Amino acid sequence: MSELNRMEEPQKEKGELFIKRLDAGEQIEVVCLSVKPEGFLTHWQPAHGNRKGYSLPCTKPIEECEGHVRRLGTRWRGYIHCFELHKGKPLFMEITPETLQNLRCLLGEATIYRGLVFGFKRMNGKNTRIITTLLAEWARRSHAPLTEPLSVEPMLRKLWQMSRENRPSEGGSNVQA
Ligand SMILES: [Zn+2]
Repeated sequence: MSELNRMEEPQKEKGELFIKRLDAGEQIEVVCLSVKPEGFLTHWQPAHGNRKGYSLPCTKPIEECEGHVRRLGTRWRGYIHCFELHKGKPLFMEITPETLQNLRCLLGEATIYRGLVFGFKRMNGKNTRIITTLLAEWARRSHAPLTEPLSVEPMLRKLWQMSRENRPSEGGSNVQA
């Protein structure tokens, strides 16, 4: 028989990290890798005509921020680097201010999220709230080492850059590129 192709580590899958927003009726269980959520201020361009709404980053200095210049509303979004237990995949969980508030009610302000296991469930219907449950403390229970947390920023930058390149022009020259 020919020589076998030994390989210590499996080949890396491409695009394994993504940002997770829960759909209606969806439920996931995750173990947090981040020490705490990373928060960003964003703007929301609502849908108008046949153009879908989209988010854009709030950038400094504020006088030069596209969203501020266009007087778009702001909203906070948080991201937690997690490992999804059922699919066995890492992801960034996107959380709203309401979910952060729920997490703080469950845990208190100064909590270290890394190693905590949460269930997130969105109820059926549009724009329904997310129910957050603290399920376990991973580290104490199994002593399994967790992988190092990653920052969501490079991925957000990439997504916002792509959405900027793909979105239809706003018609005319009132919006600067
Ligand atoms: Zn802004």
